[in-house]
Amino acid sequence: MSHPARTEAVQKAASRSIRTFPRPMDAQGRPVRVSVLYGSRTFNADRMRERVPPEVFARWSDTIEHGRKLDRPVADAIAHAVKEWALENGVSHFCHWFHPMTGSTAEKHDAFLWFDKDGRPIEKFTGSMLLQSEPDASSFPSGGMRSTFEARGYTAWDPTSPMFIMESPNGRTLCIPSAFLGYHGQALDEKAPLLRSMEALSRSATKLLGLLGETVHRVTVTVGPEQEYFLIDRAYAGLRSDLVIAGRSLLGARAPKGQMLEDHYFGSIPPRVHAFMEEVELELYQLGVSAKTRHNEVAPCQFELAPIYAEANIAADHNQIVMQTLRRVALRHDFLLLLHEKPFAFVNGSGKHINWSMQDARGENLLDPGKNPQENLRFLTFLAATLLGVYRHSAVLRASIASHGNDFRLGANEAPPAIISVFLGDFLTRICDGIASGDVSVLDPGKAMIELGISRLPAIAKDNTDRNRTSPFAFTGNKFEFRAVGASASISFPTTCLNAAVADGIDQISAWAAAEGSGATAVMAAVRRALVESAPVRFDGNGYGAEWVVEAERRGLPHARNTPAALRALATDGAAALFARHGVFSHEELHSRFEVRVEQYNKKVEIEADVLRDLVDTVVLPVAIAELADARVQGEVGPAAARRYHELRARVEALDAARQALEFASHGVGEGSEADRATAFCGHVVPALSTLREACDSVEAMVSDSRWPLPRYREMLFLS
Ligand code: ADP
Ligand code: MG
Repeated sequence: MSHPARTEAVQKAASRSIRTFPRPMDAQGRPVRVSVLYGSRTFNADRMRERVPPEVFARWSDTIEHGRKLDRPVADAIAHAVKEWALENGVSHFCHWFHPMTGSTAEKHDAFLWFDKDGRPIEKFTGSMLLQSEPDASSFPSGGMRSTFEARGYTAWDPTSPMFIMESPNGRTLCIPSAFLGYHGQALDEKAPLLRSMEALSRSATKLLGLLGETVHRVTVTVGPEQEYFLIDRAYAGLRSDLVIAGRSLLGARAPKGQMLEDHYFGSIPPRVHAFMEEVELELYQLGVSAKTRHNEVAPCQFELAPIYAEANIAADHNQIVMQTLRRVALRHDFLLLLHEKPFAFVNGSGKHINWSMQDARGENLLDPGKNPQENLRFLTFLAATLLGVYRHSAVLRASIASHGNDFRLGANEAPPAIISVFLGDFLTRICDGIASGDVSVLDPGKAMIELGISRLPAIAKDNTDRNRTSPFAFTGNKFEFRAVGASASISFPTTCLNAAVADGIDQISAWAAAEGSGATAVMAAVRRALVESAPVRFDGNGYGAEWVVEAERRGLPHARNTPAALRALATDGAAALFARHGVFSHEELHSRFEVRVEQYNKKVEIEADVLRDLVDTVVLPVAIAELADARVQGEVGPAAARRYHELRARVEALDAARQALEFASHGVGEGSEADRATAFCGHVVPALSTLREACDSVEAMVSDSRWPLPRYREMLFLS
């Protein structure tokens, strides 16, 4: 017999019916095609074209293409059209939807309701309401950037990201994707810097393309983030405050069946989860989010959703919409969604692979090996620039993915190590080595094509199937895959850092090429320098191996093992100079990112300590002590019972000691600077939590099933 609360949860979970939902049908009673309903809840370019005068549409397109400012009359015309469309769709409110530095999104709703001059109610929405709003910003993290007397910030519409209608059970709201700025123009959010970094990369790349003889007015960053997540039945959540508050299990003995059988990856999707995915996808399609791929992931109860890539800022907006939609729809299906990087010990955690490339205004992927020598030279140039940028700024990239949750994943033999290196595959490595080792003839691109077999690039790069799963930054045919990003993270900051790093690599190649002279040979010489300098960052071997850590340190690659250590890279002069050079972050803005991230780390650890302390004091210890009291009485029965009593007593004592050690570690953190506190949390509280967890798990393994009230791993992970 198991504990009644657990029994009830298990029964609830096992007897759930599969939720169905009304699918939109056409006149013939067939489900409406995805291509037809796609984007129906967005004010996209087509809707804009249909609903505004041609000259307004032209001005808006110009804004999108060239980043020009929208003037008031154009904004008024767009606002009017959007309002009419929204009202036709039953919308009553609008909000500027933005990305504060919390990593998620924020919104403040206003009704369209207004009164005309005669005092009659009307719906009103003007250009100025569209362009800008002023939410009270004082409770968003600013990393010390905004003093209280100028607490207000403003949100400004990002006209490149379509407005969309958010649905709630009883109404609809128009969401206006926005940036969030302080009164002196400081970026208080994640989007403004992302947009700036895209601009920076575009500036640098168009200039380098110019040196290659290609006139292109703009280069965009393309991003496709693969999102991993866990689902467990909601009945368990009510019994586990750790899952609800900390987003991960802080205790729980190992299940008899982990992922050892490796039967979950790409396995058939459980019907209840399948129904959930279908509802998520329908919502995403209506919102113009291209959910393309769905499958089971490696761990039990772990799944993945991947979209078709989009421009980086749109991809970042969409990834936030994906995370929110997953969370919302999960509840309807009686699931709890866990986006945490490591919700369960002993099985794999969740990441978010940022697939990343650059595309020119003609739609050509700059990381796509082409069909002729010119295209191949371009490919090699941008490949070398990426390698150089990643090599020089790997510490910043490591910092960009640092979080308390990700610390459990990186370097834990299931995710890339905490050392940034780049996987290229055999063929490209041979080419890069060939160019770097510098036979002069290869500086003539024509000869290099022949001597190094570069003309075979496209075929071979496409077929680069032996992709290295242990690399944090892998080339996968025509794009890079930044695989070290955490599942719950916003993709904005890592993408911003990557864009800035690569823009920097590109500028260096341009400068070297200009110093060499002009034409393809000069560029080739610069490419060679970049490949020579960045050689240490290239690594195709096993990133999980202990030897790699030794080798990487010998190569001088930075290795920050935890978040506080990694974040220090944001507080260096080198990082400040990088971001200032490219106009992405001012010194003050960068420092605020450092502060906010350190503070978040501290809060997360503190919350975990509180939750586990509470669980131990109110559940684990009382249960353990009751069990021990019984065991003592039973101990009289004979040698087996006596042995059990002594063993249990030892474990309960260890638990009590670990509990006190956590208290001691928490007290030791003190009131110093956030950075000092982070070092103390990381050095003392995190290890104390993990010791306490082991003590809990060893007690759980001995307590009678009828007494243990917390849903067990084997229940949560296998019965949904
Ligand atoms: P995997 O085998 O790693 O799942 P996929 O081919 O499914 O790889 O692609 C993963 C992601 O990469 C998808 O989101 C896809 O849209 C994205 N992607 C493909 N090409 C590009 C590109 N040029 N730029 C950015 N992302 C891309
Ligand atoms: Mg992938």
